Amino acid sequence: MEKVTYHNRTGQSLSSLVFNVTPAHYQAFRLQRISIASKEIPYKLQGVVLEAALPEPLQTEAQVTVEMVFTLVVPPRQGRFGVGNGIIALGNWYPVLAVFNGDWDRHQYVEIGDAFYTEVADYRVNLWSSEPVAVAHSGTQVSHEGNQWVFHAEKVRDFALAIGKHYQSASQEVDGTIVTSYFLPEHRAGGELALRAAAESLRWFGSTLGRYPYPSLGVAEIYAPTWTGSGQEYPNLVFVASGPYANPGGMGDYLSYLIAHEVGHQWLYGLVGNDQVNDPWLDEALTTHTTLTFFKQDYPTAFPSLWRSRVTDGYEKYRLEKGDRPVNTSIYDYDDELYYFAMVYRRGALFLEELRNSLGDEAYFRLLGDYVKTFSYGIATPQSFFAQAQRQSKVDLRPLFARYFTYPWLKGLSWPASTPSAAATVTVLPALAATKPATGIPTLAATPGERDPAEVILYSMLIGLVLSASLVSFWLLKSPSRGRKRR
Ligand SMILES: [Zn+2]
Repeated sequence: MEKVTYHNRTGQSLSSLVFNVTPAHYQAFRLQRISIASKEIPYKLQGVVLEAALPEPLQTEAQVTVEMVFTLVVPPRQGRFGVGNGIIALGNWYPVLAVFNGDWDRHQYVEIGDAFYTEVADYRVNLWSSEPVAVAHSGTQVSHEGNQWVFHAEKVRDFALAIGKHYQSASQEVDGTIVTSYFLPEHRAGGELALRAAAESLRWFGSTLGRYPYPSLGVAEIYAPTWTGSGQEYPNLVFVASGPYANPGGMGDYLSYLIAHEVGHQWLYGLVGNDQVNDPWLDEALTTHTTLTFFKQDYPTAFPSLWRSRVTDGYEKYRLEKGDRPVNTSIYDYDDELYYFAMVYRRGALFLEELRNSLGDEAYFRLLGDYVKTFSYGIATPQSFFAQAQRQSKVDLRPLFARYFTYPWLKGLSWPASTPSAAATVTVLPALAATKPATGIPTLAATPGERDPAEVILYSMLIGLVLSASLVSFWLLKSPSRGRKRR
């Protein structure tokens, strides 16, 4: 059962609530009913978009609590949502409220990239299991008795779990945060490297982008023998495929890179949200580039080969084979995930490297820090990133932007402008602009030299979510044949 309390800060009255239900894509989701105050309400589920009609319009600033009763049959499959090798990976596994920006976001799921776009919320999760398991989770554990757990998470963009029959774990404290690595017994060396990579990168990102504000961070090995994604970020928790755990090579190897990358997402996706469907470069290119900067600074001998393997080699290969594409392509523009990685992650990192060279290290890191500070718990847009970059630069950055991006609004940018123009403003989603809910989209001046717009309150506690999950039915599924294929 899922109970969602929604506070309408959109500035307009709403006739429905929309949820994104990724497990429906796998025919894993059986909805029994949706109700408000014990009265059932009508709904439509189209693809992964679940729209529940409210019995009466929800006025601005009013709250409503919706209850959903559903069953999940977690499929025997690899990756971020599936069961295998005694591990249940529960990523994007429940109906999550869509983002409202003038209208509800109704994007459909595709297997390319991360088809997710969410706002922050508070969670309370009750979990029961039919047998002893270890649980890696977002948030913190409130209680644990026998096979029952209660978890709590504040101001997170999602809530994920990885549940293992055979998990072993190792923990370490980093600047007040408990970092825990969960791994299979045969992968102890990999699990220990995972812990080290997570702890070291957490410390680096914290000092570079701003303090990690959560009490815990988990790294969980999941079943995924041939998954190209290989890692997946969730708030306070990252999933990493078993393959790279098998032969760990130390800091600078693929496992350590993957983990540092997913830890970087704790800031770039977790704290600072963005539309991962239409503008995936904003978190992926930034995370790729900053992760490589971590290795460049702390493991300089590993950096050159990492830069080639994570950026230039794959980009050149796909540029020659399939053609160059703008960095601002969406997950819907690809049917080959490696081509998507080449243009969005790798070419995006090349853009950021040019930007860093243009600004110089000091201004570039100030840009990253300001960006995280301004948009923590909110949602950033490409416009806002470009505006903040321009603010750090004495030269006109438009020619650089235009070499990598084809946003139509780029042509209308007038940099550096003497007065704020409509094109040179940062848009704050109305749902997030708690200070001005009734007057539409407020704008932030982005003219170089203007004061920092951080005073606009970006954080708004939109949803409280209570999830109850029972694992009993999950374990009745036959586990797939144990994948021993290694990449
Ligand atoms: Zn990523």
